[in-house]
Amino acid sequence: MENKEFWFVVGSQFLYGPEVLETVEKRAKEMAEVLSKALPFKLVYKVTAKTNKEIADVVKEANYDDNCLGIVAWCHTFSPSKMWINGLVNLQKPYCHLATQYNMEIPNEEIDMDFMNLNQAAHGDREHGFIAARLRLKRKVIAGYWKDENVLKRLSSWMRAASAVAFSKSLKVMRFGDNMREVAVTEGDKVETQIKLGWQVNTWPVGKLVEVMDAVTEKEIDDLMEVYRASYDFATDDIETVRYQAREEIAIKKMMDSEGCMAFSNTFQDLYGMRQLPGLASQHLMAQGYGYGGEGDWKVSAMTAIMKHMGEGGNGASAFMEDYTYNLKQGAKYSLGAHMLEVCPSVASARPRIEVHPLGIGDREDPARLVFEGKEGDAIVVSLIDMGGRMRIICQDIHCVKPILPMPNLPVARVMWQAYPSLETGLECWITAGGAHHSVLSYDVSAEMVKDFANMMDIEFVHITKDTTLESLEHELFLNDLAWKLR
Ligand code: MN
Repeated sequence: MENKEFWFVVGSQFLYGPEVLETVEKRAKEMAEVLSKALPFKLVYKVTAKTNKEIADVVKEANYDDNCLGIVAWCHTFSPSKMWINGLVNLQKPYCHLATQYNMEIPNEEIDMDFMNLNQAAHGDREHGFIAARLRLKRKVIAGYWKDENVLKRLSSWMRAASAVAFSKSLKVMRFGDNMREVAVTEGDKVETQIKLGWQVNTWPVGKLVEVMDAVTEKEIDDLMEVYRASYDFATDDIETVRYQAREEIAIKKMMDSEGCMAFSNTFQDLYGMRQLPGLASQHLMAQGYGYGGEGDWKVSAMTAIMKHMGEGGNGASAFMEDYTYNLKQGAKYSLGAHMLEVCPSVASARPRIEVHPLGIGDREDPARLVFEGKEGDAIVVSLIDMGGRMRIICQDIHCVKPILPMPNLPVARVMWQAYPSLETGLECWITAGGAHHSVLSYDVSAEMVKDFANMMDIEFVHITKDTTLESLEHELFLNDLAWKLR
């Protein structure tokens, strides 16, 4: 992450003479330096481009440089856009057009025609916008003064989404066992997904995992138990059961790390040779940034890893989630989300407890798991589904609350939320769009980030907000279906 950067490319031309070009370059360097301090990634000034070749060259370089996560472009002066065509048609990295201006205000006394020629972003950025529109270039447009808080916030958000694109393109997912029998929404076209999103999704035998588990040493388990003690409260005396989860975690992590995987899935229907369904093990792996999906759901697993990567510090408050049950009482309408065991503690409101309870399904020993409540705050839930021929991301705005009931006999982590625009309409929209029961719930990834990610990946994005009506959503889905069939 430390070496990752974005490139600042400034458009100009020779028309205004060398002095103007020197000033443009000096200012662009200063802007890149100041912006780098305010953004999550370094912004490196690359070139004040005046020719077709300079633009083609910097695009080629950006495509091949693994550390370059994307290009931020700006036209300080007027930059005739036909000279951008040969470069932009080859661009394979995320692209942001920052429509800004070096000066915040129009200076009353100083302004003359020289000033106008030097500071004509209002003019140059429109020419630049046209060529991107004409090329149907996937891009983000952010307008405003470059030091404005809102501009910095949106540029930061776009950078995180762009970083997730690079992460997605190299993501490997380790599957243990297949899909839960007969379940539809967790299925998907792995070849199409790799073409579109870059994920390498492959299977390893549960028997191999059991072999690796058997080879885990007591010392390795002792060390991980210390980590558990430092992070969680022990609300059980059944230490052997917790140690067994540690053994599972160490083995899964070893297998993932040896293959370079950052996400995994398993299923309670295939635990051959295992004494417990991984609960605490999966939860603590998610806390370290690995994605997870239950019942063979490799799509939600990969999305969990991607959204964690997008979040704060590259491992944000995002969790694999499942809609379970509703409170439908007037004035107190909430969804209760949880899973059999595996909710990431990054969304916990307080220090989680390790507890051991029976599990009704899977036919194995009582597993240890982390139990906690999710924190309050605005969040989103995101579901990626395979529509057959294309992928669709559904994102819903929600507000998480402190659960209105203590639910003392519910032995799993839980999050309670209000869905937008309301529980009923939100649910009707989610179901109409085909959203899964599995989702990624995130407090620090915004809907705009997910939308930018979908746009960069060229997949469909559907957003359910406080303003969405069922009618507008149905209309959008109908038009999307037509548009995607034409592509
Ligand atoms: Mn599930």
